[in-house]
Amino acid sequence: RIVYVNGEFLPEDAACLSVFDRGVLFADAVYEVTAVVDGGMVDFEAHQQRLCRSLAELGIDFDLRAAGLLELHRELIRRNALNEGLVYLQVSRGVADRSFLQPTTCQPSVVLFTQAQSLLETAATGTGLRVITQPDLRWHRRDIKTTQLLYPSMMKTLAVEQGADDVWMVEGGTVTEGSSSNAHIIRADGALVTRPTSPDILHGITRAAVLDYSRETGAAVIERPFTVAEAQQAREAFITSATAFVTPVVAVDGVAIGDGRPGPATHRIRSHYIQRSRERLQY
Ligand code: PLP
Repeated sequence: RIVYVNGEFLPEDAACLSVFDRGVLFADAVYEVTAVVDGGMVDFEAHQQRLCRSLAELGIDFDLRAAGLLELHRELIRRNALNEGLVYLQVSRGVADRSFLQPTTCQPSVVLFTQAQSLLETAATGTGLRVITQPDLRWHRRDIKTTQLLYPSMMKTLAVEQGADDVWMVEGGTVTEGSSSNAHIIRADGALVTRPTSPDILHGITRAAVLDYSRETGAAVIERPFTVAEAQQAREAFITSATAFVTPVVAVDGVAIGDGRPGPATHRIRSHYIQRSRERLQY
């Protein structure tokens, strides 16, 4: 696999990042994951806009325009002959002597790599995911897409150790989001209920697209927090993320949702999302 690091395309074994990179020492870095389908990128522009916001929130001085990220994404997809999978992009504050005081003069480090992966056909789409709930102990700026992912990684691992597939995190009695996805339910009356954007959750690009498409088709969309009990009593539930697209959730803490199988509304939303995304791929 060919990866990109600070101006160079290199075989992955030859690529390296400094031990003193602030991304390594402080998770002082932001990232984006863009899905690739049919060799084209899904929602590239929206991911760039969110990256721009994350960088601004952390005060990382990085010239997105000058970086030519679209070209770097295209080139890496080409060099790795990637048809389906993802492009991971990370920008850290850069390299400096270890200090809690953020350096003002360092050059951001840029890393890109691809990962081949089936996105359209996945086992989880057919079976649905079983999630367990855990308290959300992350920091309170979850709207910034930083590489500070220890807690969600621990919780994902815990879920799998307990025989589930993933976790839904809970704060103040309501579901915030999954370990790496946004959480949604469909009520008995067919309304889609999802937590509104705030610093409590990542503002998912897939979430936003799904809400747009749902509203276009006339579906009721209600943006408000929901409880674990509401999720357990919902007709259907699902998660969204750049690589999971729309994936059904069939149980929460061992309680089956609906008849315990992926539901028709989730299936329709997934198909619609995939169709619309494929119509507007970025090459
Ligand atoms: N929430 C969290 C915590 C995530 O890590 C992710 C994606 O990685 C998402 C939500 C979904 O965001 P997106 O649809 O932009 O991939």
